[in-house]
Amino acid sequence: MLTEFHIGIDDTDSPLGGCTTYTTTLVFQELLSIGIKPADFPWLVRLNPNIPWKTRGNGATSIHLAIEEGQIPLVEKVAIRIVEETTNKTERRTDPAVAFLKGPVAYHLRDFSNRALHDVLSVKDANHVSKATGANFHATKSARGLIGALAAIGAKLDQVRHTFEVIAYRTKDNLGTKRAVDKESVFDMDTKYNDSTFQNLDRENGRVLICPHGPDPVLLGIRGFDPFTLLKALGEVRVREPVERVMIFRTNQGTNAHLTRPRKISELEPFQSAVLTARVDSLPRVLKGGHVIFRIRDETGVGVCAAYAPTGPMMRAARELIPGDEVRAYGGVRLNRDSSLTLNLERLDILRIVEAFREENPRCPSCGTCCESMGRDQGFRCEKCGLRTRDSKTRVRISRDLEPSVEIPPPRSRRHLTRPQTASQNPDLMFAREDAFSFERLLKAIQPASTL
Ligand code: ATP
Repeated sequence: MLTEFHIGIDDTDSPLGGCTTYTTTLVFQELLSIGIKPADFPWLVRLNPNIPWKTRGNGATSIHLAIEEGQIPLVEKVAIRIVEETTNKTERRTDPAVAFLKGPVAYHLRDFSNRALHDVLSVKDANHVSKATGANFHATKSARGLIGALAAIGAKLDQVRHTFEVIAYRTKDNLGTKRAVDKESVFDMDTKYNDSTFQNLDRENGRVLICPHGPDPVLLGIRGFDPFTLLKALGEVRVREPVERVMIFRTNQGTNAHLTRPRKISELEPFQSAVLTARVDSLPRVLKGGHVIFRIRDETGVGVCAAYAPTGPMMRAARELIPGDEVRAYGGVRLNRDSSLTLNLERLDILRIVEAFREENPRCPSCGTCCESMGRDQGFRCEKCGLRTRDSKTRVRISRDLEPSVEIPPPRSRRHLTRPQTASQNPDLMFAREDAFSFERLLKAIQPASTL
């Protein structure tokens, strides 16, 4: 009888090289090559992006199998060996872990995974959930990677909103060199697959976003809503270096999964992801560099939001807020040097704007010119005809350069998890029409040494 078996992997990489998705691809493909067939694409699960000790995008991965119980020791052996081989253990910030779970994912683990998207968890929390759910693991250093490894298993990506990413990897000889990907072909691919892929490039500054820049083995990654289209899109990109292998991941990228937890201002803790519904409590202040900060208030207290200059339209909208406006602020909680907290905005919903008024001196009853004040409680005098008046100031409504709207940063300053506009307009895209493709058919494209 076949039994569910899940493998979670995290933290095999460092700023000097490696990538957890690459390790996972090697494990997935080696399992395939020894005749063990996975039940799904591997999952790439992005976790709380505000964790200070992440290398890049706080990604963890998992592989899901339906196998004979007798095959489990072999599968574990393959996974542990590849994790060991692909990790640079001398690197201080690398804390690899591989977790194994036999049987269905229990509620505890699902909940843990959800919290890993929003909160800061400890290795103790991970050990606790591992015991409670009967998962076991292999970790060589502090076991910090266990947090991500378990969270990746518990993500239930097949049952919630998800997207896909096709990743092409470089050969060893090319690691650390400039990626030979033709920019023009990325533009063409983006035009052709604009509705079905996202985050390919930033058209405002012409920056290609499918290629990372570091020494890691990823040559390029294209994100989108269904795996067939992603393979076609990959085929459109002209690459002038050898591709070692290709993998398709089911992911939570582009789903805003980390921005679903409503919180109150008084409950905020450093490095959380948070959503606050509040009223603007101060006029925004524009700092050097164009960053905008403003206070917000809810029934529990006052907090500070920051919209940084690179967030472009979102920063410009924030600049126009006035006290009383109602907003929903989404972002990461930063711990400042003086221990205060700031919500770094990743999205700003302007829910309701209040009317704005300016006080004006009264108009001259004779010639209509704006009068000047003669001093406190002294009335007003017309500059032009000298007429005096005891009329009081009038409130004049001024037009607001702002409307209720949803503001997100431009592609270049988005998180991996940020939901693109196409998906906001059509959320069904993220249920990815499961019936329209078959995992079986796509397995061929992600075999070791497959040629596209
Ligand atoms: P890459 O995107 O290149 O794979 P990364 O940004 O994912 O790198 P890692 O090197 O994997 O960074 O480091 C992230 C570490 O943070 C892992 O050890 C992971 O277990 C841990 N972690 C992930 N989510 C949380 C969380 N919510 N609370 C505490 N630790 C977390």
